[in-house]
Parts: sequence; structure tokens; C-alpha cells
Amino acid sequence: MSLENFNNLLQKYANLIVTTGVNVQDSHTVVLSIDVEQAPLARMITEAAYKKGAKEVIVKWADDSITRSKFQYAPEEVLTDVPQYRIDESLDHIEKGASRISVRSSDPDSLKGLDSSKIAAAQAALGKALSEQRKATQSNKVSWLVAAAAGEAWAAKVFPDLESTEEQLDALWDAIFKAVHLYDEDPIKTWEEKDKTLEAKAEELNKEQFVALHYTAPGTDLTVGLPKGHRWEGAGSLNARGERFMANMPTEEVFTAPDANRVDGVVVSTKPLSYAGNIIEGMEFHFKDGKVEKVTAKNGEDVITKLVDTDEGSARLGEVALVPDASPISQSGLTFFNTLFDENASNHFALGSAYAFNLQGGTEMSEEELKAAGLNRSDVHVDFMVGSNEMDIDGIREDGTRVPVFRKGAWA
Ligand code: ZN
Ligand code: ZN
Repeated sequence: MSLENFNNLLQKYANLIVTTGVNVQDSHTVVLSIDVEQAPLARMITEAAYKKGAKEVIVKWADDSITRSKFQYAPEEVLTDVPQYRIDESLDHIEKGASRISVRSSDPDSLKGLDSSKIAAAQAALGKALSEQRKATQSNKVSWLVAAAAGEAWAAKVFPDLESTEEQLDALWDAIFKAVHLYDEDPIKTWEEKDKTLEAKAEELNKEQFVALHYTAPGTDLTVGLPKGHRWEGAGSLNARGERFMANMPTEEVFTAPDANRVDGVVVSTKPLSYAGNIIEGMEFHFKDGKVEKVTAKNGEDVITKLVDTDEGSARLGEVALVPDASPISQSGLTFFNTLFDENASNHFALGSAYAFNLQGGTEMSEEELKAAGLNRSDVHVDFMVGSNEMDIDGIREDGTRVPVFRKGAWA
């Protein structure tokens, strides 16, 4: 690594992750999921968490190549059979109120060319088996964070024109550090301010309580209903213990839950989506009464079709997120082929499960009550990007009047 002061920056990043990210406090348990390629960062995060008082830091290692081999060679019955000990382990982590840190650095097409139905079946089985864990994070019961680290294959994908692996890695680390404000003198303070700004924007929208949003852009004409009592949020949240944490780094979005039964029209994607180790491009979704009636794609149509067919809720929306086109990630002009970055450069939706905290009183509700209130339930949650500097959005009030929310990709 030739980036100046790289080790100091990485240390600063580890501190930001355990402080602003999952907000480690005395006697917390922390679960860290990270790629073997990121061992130096994993060691720093682990040490920083213990220094903050963590009781135990549990590291779960991943590796793209080993994952690919498993999907390629292991029979489907092995891939879809999630052993009881994995479920018990996840339940034990919930019981301990463990914070979850997930550091993403994967090759965006690490599973390219493999049998997509086998991968879809494996992901569906895992999603189902670990549903309690997903509910614990999606209701903010525990602190959780998704952050990124530069992996070699990912860096090559984002910076194909740079000659050496080292230059590509430097460029991607630099982009990550910029996106999380790491070059600021006190990034923790920058994040506190950012949290407040996004919170204020969310409060403005909460006061409006629009019944629907109407999106228009080239190829897009979509109306998305919003349930009564919906709540807009920024990425800053409180866990069940009342501790503040940041679920995504970087983040630029405010988001809420749509009414899963009131989405109608057409929407086209504006950025590639890396999902299940494949890149999906040029998607077009046709919605009727909340449900995807038809989906096409220029690339990876089989993968997106299988995702939509996963379960009852995977053909409906669970998240509506607003991000101005002027966001620093968007202005970088880069396509990251990584949802954590690309979603923070663009207005987006998610197929699948809605966040319970996006509804007034939602975290206290049962699955049935959430569903009855219009919040989508599913074992998947996958964001896809639809924003551009040509997108207009109107908020529709209960009496039918329209209020400009976005004009040409910017807050109106
Ligand atoms: Zn989002
Ligand atoms: Zn999402």
C-alpha cells in the first residue's frame, strides 16, 4: 500500500467503526464478519473494540474463492441444509444483545457463471434459517453496521484503467476513506453532525405524512403508497438498550417503508446491482397493486427473476430511500458495483422486508400486525438504484394536493 499514512488511516477507520458505527460499550459482545484479505483491519477493529470495553469479539472469516468453490461443487442439499448449530449460534448472539459489524470487500461478480438457481436456493434457505437474526437487526434491537474495505478484485472492477493492483487498491481505499469522512480532523464529530442533518430532513418528511410519492424520470412513472404512521429515518438509530449507532457507513439516505400493496407503474434501474455474486444491469420493473408483475433486465435477468420469486414478499417493496444526486458518492462519478456505495449515490427502493422501525410503534408489533399495517415481510431485502439528475418526485397529501419533493435529482 502506497497511500500515505495508510496504517494510521486504517487505525482511524477501525476506531470510527467501533465508536460511531456500533458504539461499543462496557461488556458488549461484538460479532465481526470480514474477509480474510482484510485481516489487518480485522485485528485493529478487534483491538479497538476490546479497548472500548467489549467482553468478547467474535470474528467470522469469509473468503470469496472458498465461497465460490462451495457453490460450484457442493450438492444443493448441502447448500440448502442450514445446520441447527448455526441457528443456535445466531440465537445465542441475539440473546447476548451482540452488536454486528459486517465489513464488505467482495468481488462484485465472485459467483459469475455458476448455477443461479442453486445460489438462489441456498440464499433463501439461509435467509429463512437466520430470520430471527434479521428481525433483530431490522427492528434495531441490536446495534449493527455495514461498512466496506477495499478488496483486490473489487478494486479492479471499479478502477479497470489503473495499471497495477496496488494503484487500484489505493484508489478504492481513498474513495472509501473520502466517503466516510476519514480525512476530516475529527471524523467522529463530522458523523455526529451528519446524523443531525439527516435526522432533520427525516423529521420534515415525517410532519408531511404523504399518502404517496409519485416518481417520474426517463422510463419511470411510478406511484408508491406510504402507510399511515410511516416514519422516515436516517442511518443513525437507537438500539434496545438506548445506545446510538450508525447502520451504514457511508450513508447519505433518509428512508421509510412503503405500503406493500400500493405500488403501481414502471420503474427502471439507473445503476448496476451486484447481487448473489452477479452483476444485474438495465432492470425494468412493472408493478400492480404493490406486486412486481413483470421484470426484465439487459444483464442478469435470470438472477433478478429468481430473487423476485424467492417468497411472497420478495416481489414487493420494503424500502423507499431518498438520496440527492449531489451526494459526494454520486459526484465521485464512480460506479462501485457495491450496494453500500451505489445506494448512497441514488434514490433507491428495496425488494423484500421492510424495517419495523419505519412505522410508528412498529418495533413492538408482531409480524402479522406489521403486515396488516402494510409493511412488507420477506426473507430477503435487496436495494436497487433508480435515481438520476433527471428524476422528479412529488409528495401527495391526503387531500390530493401535490408537493414537489425532488426536482432534477435534488431536494425541491
Ligand atoms: Zn437504503
Ligand atoms: Zn436497504
